Amino acid sequence: LRSLVIVLGDQLDHDAAAFDDFDAAQDAVWMAEVAEESEHVWSSKPRIAMFLSAMRHFAAELRARGVTVHYTRLDDAGNAGSLAGELAAAIVRLRPAQLVMTAPGDYRVWQSIKRVAREQDRPLDVRDDRHFYATVRDFAAHAKGRKQLRLEYFYRELREKHGVLMRDGKPAGGQWNFDADNRQDFGKDGPGRHFPGPDFVPDAITRDVIALIESRFAAHPGSLQSFAWPVTRDQALEALQRFIDERLPKFGPYQDAMWKGEPWLYHSLLAAALNLKLLNPREVVAAAERAYEQGHAPLESVEGFIRQIIGWREYVRGIYWTRMPDYLESNALNATEPLPAWYWTGDTDMACLRDAITQTLTHGYAHHIQRLMVTGLYPLLLGVAPRQVHEWYLAVYVDAVEWVELPNVLGMSQYADGGLMASKPYVATGKYIERMGHYCKGCRYKPALKTGEQACPFTTLYWDFLMRHEALLSRNQRMALQVKNLARLSDEERAAIRAQATAIRASSSAPS
Ligand code: FAD
Ligand code: SF4
Repeated sequence: LRSLVIVLGDQLDHDAAAFDDFDAAQDAVWMAEVAEESEHVWSSKPRIAMFLSAMRHFAAELRARGVTVHYTRLDDAGNAGSLAGELAAAIVRLRPAQLVMTAPGDYRVWQSIKRVAREQDRPLDVRDDRHFYATVRDFAAHAKGRKQLRLEYFYRELREKHGVLMRDGKPAGGQWNFDADNRQDFGKDGPGRHFPGPDFVPDAITRDVIALIESRFAAHPGSLQSFAWPVTRDQALEALQRFIDERLPKFGPYQDAMWKGEPWLYHSLLAAALNLKLLNPREVVAAAERAYEQGHAPLESVEGFIRQIIGWREYVRGIYWTRMPDYLESNALNATEPLPAWYWTGDTDMACLRDAITQTLTHGYAHHIQRLMVTGLYPLLLGVAPRQVHEWYLAVYVDAVEWVELPNVLGMSQYADGGLMASKPYVATGKYIERMGHYCKGCRYKPALKTGEQACPFTTLYWDFLMRHEALLSRNQRMALQVKNLARLSDEERAAIRAQATAIRASSSAPS
């Protein structure tokens, strides 16, 4: 065997660099399902199903093309249980002259594969991941010498370089950013319609995977009853087309809106397909750009969407790979509380959190503003250890892969990197959640109240957060207004907020 090409669960791309010189007569592919990848964090059933089903479909496609695939199934006898163990066994068995792979997305996996190659004394040819617009080297060059990193500049650089939404060297529509048009809520009457979610009926391969997970990972969180994610490239392309046709035109204005019982809204639902590499971001961006050119979708929606893909998605990858492994330990606010146990069940009286967590466990999905301003905001205000918040996010979402999850959780939502990723902590009271999502009507708490039996825990903890971090936050200009409002609180109010926050913490850490 000349080359053994390693294909990980988030590398399901027939055009990946690892296949550039692939010769079916001399080379073979190696893939493995191992328990470690579902257990190193307590992965939800939908997330495990997404990966295993997509991997099995990809292996079947390769075989149909005449490629030899050495594939270990989770329930194969003698499965070593870890990528390192399975890879080492395959090298001993197959004796390839070299190992080839596309650069992995996960630092931990990267370290373990390098170690196996070293121990087995095999050359490892690691190739750039062309899936992304920017290499990590591009990002490092952009970041070099800058005191502060900001998405906006990196995003503009990439749009110019790749000619995306550009007209004669200028941004289409004369401005780079349409955020001001893109912050609408649904008003008190709501979105006025119901939004369907993904509806790809599980085929025999997916049904096998579901049965395996139900027996092997029975105690893991989440449910598989409504699993309907795209697990093949063809399905992912269909999902892309459906998004462009049906939801992109209103994506922009409502990208920050929430509505009770409506998990999907105008979002694309494409993150898992992108992160597993079933879709290429260039084709996604091109489809959105085409919709603008054809007058199907307005510029603010198309720019708002493209900013997520060329902007945030590339930016967080750069942060991850230039900051690991130390980034994982970031804890700028010295937060040490445990994550409430009900994060794994959704069993809480807080209507917004109950809704967001329940849909997360049911579908492996929540949209951005739920992740940031509901499930992310609460542990930030409570003071939960960022590592525990990270482990929850990595476990529960079908699109969760560490390079994208970690900077979003530690940096953007928990401010654990001290402002590298976000220019200020995203903190708000329950009134923000009321305005953006209208959850509060059905809740036993009142978002305007800071103290007392009916006080919204978000609101109590918001004021407590400002008090606890007053010195740090008052040095941040973007927080000046929020910190200034603290001065309006009397000593008695401060003491009452503190006492109530302490009680919330005590009850949150109690076993449920
Ligand atoms: P849409 O709202 O339709 O957005 C379009 C696409 O843009 C997404 O599919 C995604 O590929 C990209 N995108 C949007 N926002 C971001 C962002 N902030 N960073 C990187 N890419 C972005 N995204 C993940 O892919 N995996 C994660 O594990 C993940 N964890 C997150 C954790 C927290 C605390 C937060 C605040 C955000 C997280 N995100 C993550 C980013 C974002 O919330 C999801 O990409 C998005 O909600 C996925 O749904 P969608 O495909 O419908 O996205
Ligand atoms: Fe959430 Fe507070 Fe509103 Fe209840 S009152 S839904 S806890 S924001």
